[in-house]
Amino acid sequence: MSDSLRAEIALGCRILALEDQGDFVWGHVSARDPDGRGVWMKAATLGFEEITPERVILVSWDGDVLEGDGRRHAEYPIHTELMRARDDIVGVVHTHAPWAVAFASTGEPLRPVSHEGTLFVPPGPARFTKTGDLVLTAELGRDLAAEVGDRNAAFMVHHGIVTCGPDVVSAVMSAVLLERACRTQIRALAAGGPKTWSSDEEALVKREHCYRPVLLRQAWDYLARRLDER
Ligand SMILES: [Zn+2]
Repeated sequence: MSDSLRAEIALGCRILALEDQGDFVWGHVSARDPDGRGVWMKAATLGFEEITPERVILVSWDGDVLEGDGRRHAEYPIHTELMRARDDIVGVVHTHAPWAVAFASTGEPLRPVSHEGTLFVPPGPARFTKTGDLVLTAELGRDLAAEVGDRNAAFMVHHGIVTCGPDVVSAVMSAVLLERACRTQIRALAAGGPKTWSSDEEALVKREHCYRPVLLRQAWDYLARRLDER
């Protein structure tokens, strides 16, 4: 079981690299350990594109490395505290997604001006503003989890994003789609600002039509094939 999870996390990391969400060696993907010991996550000191299944380690709820070789990321509480707060979360992604960071600084609400935004709006990603510094403590992780609430994403203003879902695929694809939604809206802002976007009603219908789990998996598989071509 852990072998397939490690492979899925590693592939998710490489997909995020392909989507330009790497920030040197920072940013992480995690999955809840099926045996309840903590979270499997990418090892520190490596870029997303360098991650193989062997470079995914098991980190306890208190930050001890229980299995695998490598150092754990200092910001592991983002993952452990979100999963502690929400039984439904299996996958978590944190990146320094550049378009999303720029967009969050505008203070504008995310609008579903294209398909991508409908995965998040309504109600829209949470905005975590308690600190733009690293999330280094369980206390800050709990504050972030409280801000996320029952949503699938948050802007960590001045820092990055966090996305979560019932599996690794949905968490990674949410990060990919949130970044693309922010890029699209920044383009609209640069052209004078969006004048129109989907109503909440249309957005909810589109979410069902465009981003059901089976469709997110298809997009994931496509990105995996693109990696294979490299
Ligand atoms: Zn970070």
